[in-house]
Parts: sequence; C-alpha cells; structure tokens
Amino acid sequence: MGKRKSAKPPPAKSKAKLDVTFACPFCNADKSVTCTMDRERGVGSVSCTQCSASFAVKIHTLSEPIDVYSDWIDECERVNAA
Ligand SMILES: [Zn+2]
Repeated sequence: MGKRKSAKPPPAKSKAKLDVTFACPFCNADKSVTCTMDRERGVGSVSCTQCSASFAVKIHTLSEPIDVYSDWIDECERVNAA
C-alpha cells in the first residue's frame, strides 16, 4: 500500500470539505474512521463506520483532521487511565 507522505497541500480555496480516514482505536478497523472538519462551525468530528464510535472537538483555522483524530486518541487514553 503506497503510503504517501505528502507535504501539506496549499490552503485550497477553503469551503471544500476535507474527509480523511484513520484506523479506529476501538475496533481497530483500518480506515474506518472518517473525519469531518466543519470549519464554519469550528467543530471537527471523527466517527467510525464499523463500531459507530465518535468524537467531536473544537477546531481552529489551522486544525487538521489528524489533530482531531489525535485529540480523540488522547481522550481515549485519558478515559482508559481513569
Ligand atoms: Zn471502530
């Protein structure tokens, strides 16, 4: 599987919804987590299409899907540690 390590793409004309997939921390399904960045509302959300796990967090203009995903992972670890 070609893992493309691309540099950050230039800020496109915005508005375009950025959808990215990640592996799910709950069911471990690969590419089952979809990230949606609602920049107008300032909310980024991730949800798993396999187990329906989901998470939403506030984002700012420089936030990227990976940031939302990272926050989710952090949150999971925090909950697990509690
Ligand atoms: Zn899942």
